[in-house]
Amino acid sequence: MRTDPNIEDFADSNNPVVRKFNEYLDAHGMRRTTERYAILNRILSINEHFTIEELQQMIVGDGFHVSRSTVYNTIELLIDAKMLRRHVFEGMQAQYERITMPHTHLVCTTCGKVKEVKDPNFAAFMNARRFNAFNTDHYSLYVYGTCSTCARKTKRTQASAEENKQKRK
Ligand SMILES: [Zn+2]
Ligand SMILES: [Zn+2]
Repeated sequence: MRTDPNIEDFADSNNPVVRKFNEYLDAHGMRRTTERYAILNRILSINEHFTIEELQQMIVGDGFHVSRSTVYNTIELLIDAKMLRRHVFEGMQAQYERITMPHTHLVCTTCGKVKEVKDPNFAAFMNARRFNAFNTDHYSLYVYGTCSTCARKTKRTQASAEENKQKRK
């Protein structure tokens, strides 16, 4: 028989992230539900970008039954609480990540792989940058191009096409 997990297993108030979420829920008059903490806990274990589907599959894998809409709603809360960020890269479905150090996203337009790089020069530039009549909260930088794996593949395809052409001559 599966016993339902206690909320205490998830809502560890010694964890500063959990405490922040507690404060957010309290401030908005929202209930501290086991589902919400199960979702938060799972997110804390992920160090990469993830889609809602991927997150839901992981939570189901944890033996927890949460609906897609519960996952979606909790994600919205975490975004509003400034704990999570949504990225929509061109031509891809939304991806999420915890708010950590600012970084640049290198997006391969061929395979869709997203690589993160820390660029201290760019961060310093943006931190010093002031815009007229505008208060910067945060920024995202997406750089689109081709990853080395895809570039190699393209080169190989071109080379073999060239070879075939030579053979036919
Ligand atoms: Zn690629
Ligand atoms: Zn990222």
